[in-house]
Amino acid sequence: MDADVIVIGAGLAGLQSARRLERGGLSVLVLESADAVGGRVRTDRVDGFLVDRGFQVLNPAYPAVRRWVDVPALGLQRFGVGAIVRTGDRTTTLAHPLRHPRHALTTMSSRLTPPSDLMALARWIGPTLWRATAASRAASDATLRESLDAVGLTGRLRRDVLDTFLAGVLADSTGESSANYVRLLLRSFAMGAPGLPAAGMQALPEQLAAALVGGIRLGTAARELRDTADGVRVTTDTGSLSARAVIVAVGPQDVAGLTALLAPETHGLTTWWFRATGEPRTGPFLLLDASRPGGGPAGPIWNSAVISEAAPSYAPDGRHLVQATTLLDRPDGRATEAEVRQDLARLYATPTDRWEVVAHHVVEHTLPAQPPPLADRAYTWAGDRVVVAGDHRATGSIQGALVSGDRAARAVATRLRV
Ligand SMILES: Cc1cc2nc3c(=O)[nH]c(=O)nc-3n(C[C@H](O)[C@H](O)[C@H](O)COP(=O)(O)OP(=O)(O)OC[C@H]3O[C@@H](n4cnc5c(N)ncnc54)[C@H](O)[C@@H]3O)c2cc1C
Repeated sequence: MDADVIVIGAGLAGLQSARRLERGGLSVLVLESADAVGGRVRTDRVDGFLVDRGFQVLNPAYPAVRRWVDVPALGLQRFGVGAIVRTGDRTTTLAHPLRHPRHALTTMSSRLTPPSDLMALARWIGPTLWRATAASRAASDATLRESLDAVGLTGRLRRDVLDTFLAGVLADSTGESSANYVRLLLRSFAMGAPGLPAAGMQALPEQLAAALVGGIRLGTAARELRDTADGVRVTTDTGSLSARAVIVAVGPQDVAGLTALLAPETHGLTTWWFRATGEPRTGPFLLLDASRPGGGPAGPIWNSAVISEAAPSYAPDGRHLVQATTLLDRPDGRATEAEVRQDLARLYATPTDRWEVVAHHVVEHTLPAQPPPLADRAYTWAGDRVVVAGDHRATGSIQGALVSGDRAARAVATRLRV
């Protein structure tokens, strides 16, 4: 045996499962096909800028992050809890009134937050704010669109703010995601101020990996799994390995290649990273576009942010890094550089012809689809000694990936002891 357990995939799920197994006294070998750990959480340094492979943020309020991540060690640089919304030639800052009292008055009196919408929002999310997570998951579920319609949240707060914000977060503009999932997600946003680690998002998986004593074999892809008399044999592109059990912690697009499970449906987005000239100013807030009559963005960009305002370490001194996100489920999701640049000029009301592209990431499989009902599961057995973990088994998030890896590891440890 090469190890008690072989973990395939060094994303967040795989790394957390390896950590849990090692803490339980089992020997673990992690196989990762890429050249570094992190999976969908990777960061590159380009011309002095830090660019994550697709804009994402770490929410320190996620229970799994609170439990298993040393957030202070990451030097989290926080975004504001709110957004700047562009409607035509106006911008409005809407922010959490307790966290940003300076913006409380504009937020509460904005035409984007009519009282009828605020009351409907309270009816919709209220119970999730005070009851236990398990009860919220188990409550009757519907699509986000149906659920918001049902409480009468149909005004500008919905059309111009929530729908646009959530489409970017879920990489899904259809409104077909689970309402229960979205409520839990928004609860996390209300409880924590998401941010970016000083060394980039990849510092998160690197922190998890640093705690491992067993090996991580980078550049090693698992090709096939076979049951043996006392465990599982893993064929890799460089040879064969065996273990008493295997955790398959690959992303949604790869799971069908190693197990009999079907590939889960996914949603995708693209992130453009620009070095901006001048000083586009949004403070540490996300910029949403709701300039299309009836709601939603007037161009391809669903959200943007001056990353260096929230996270100064992402840009060299005096430089500005701007991200712009487009959604692949929209016809203009693959907008050209010229189209994105033109849209940014409108959004920031400033010329952008001298802005330089630092990187462009097209992430086809950003997140697994999250249709209702929200299942209360975290992993799936795919054989007697093979368990599948990853966000696509739980919820499409850092929280989901970590919980999935952890619970899968506990299940494997229990089975091996039995
Ligand atoms: C652009 C983007 C934005 C996001 N925004 C957020 C956000 O703001 N907040 C949030 O909570 N979540 C966000 N997420 C989601 C979050 O990053 C993921 O849910 C999480 O990282 C998934 O981790 P995972 O371990 O399940 O899968 P992955 O990260 O996909 O890891 C799977 C690993 O398996 C490896 N692998 C695949 N096949 C093999 C093989 N045959 N052999 C060996 N190794 C293999 C892969 O290389 C990869 O390293 C975002 C994701 C993206 C891409």
